[in-house]
Amino acid sequence: MGRRLLLLGPPGAGKGTQAAMVRTALGIPHISTGAMLRDHVERATELGFAAQIIMDAGDLVSDEIVIAMVEERLDQPDAACGFLLDGFPRTVAQAEALDALLGEQRPLEAVISLEVIEDEVVQRLLDRAAKEGRADDNEQTIRNRMAVYRELTEPLIAYYDRAGIVRPIDGMGAIEEIFGRIAASLAAS
Ligand code: AMP
Repeated sequence: MGRRLLLLGPPGAGKGTQAAMVRTALGIPHISTGAMLRDHVERATELGFAAQIIMDAGDLVSDEIVIAMVEERLDQPDAACGFLLDGFPRTVAQAEALDALLGEQRPLEAVISLEVIEDEVVQRLLDRAAKEGRADDNEQTIRNRMAVYRELTEPLIAYYDRAGIVRPIDGMGAIEEIFGRIAASLAAS
């Protein structure tokens, strides 16, 4: 049976990198709302224009928009056999909407919570800015993204703790090392 996973962590924790590795290892689709939104920006859709301004500021796109995007994506046949969510949910309202979408038949099974030291995270983002030239990776935006994370997204750890599905993972160290911890945690059940 497929697995229904969520990768949670602050911006720069390496979610995208680890998600790609988990996807390869488990053969489940990697669903990233950030990637979906960047795709809209690249294709210059109406949503892309609106989203770009918000993303460049490090703020959150509206719950309504991302929930609709995820609902459509989870309806695709490949997601019937499991999925790994990355970057969604980012607010308690999104988490509640996700619970409702999944229903009691196929609830989220595990939340991989990447734990990192904030200074390291900011450095990772600055490195990525230099490499990829992402407009949402300048220092002011990074600080805002961290503040938004703490205020709106971090409460999700307590939210999922109540369901007993959080798996804290040390997110510091080499990429392969961190992936090893995730794989071990997922193999434990
Ligand atoms: P990410 O690639 O996950 O870091 O997302 C990049 C940006 O896309 C974020 O800083 C937000 O502006 C936007 N975004 C991605 N996912 C969400 C979400 N679930 N809710 C609101 N905004 C999002």
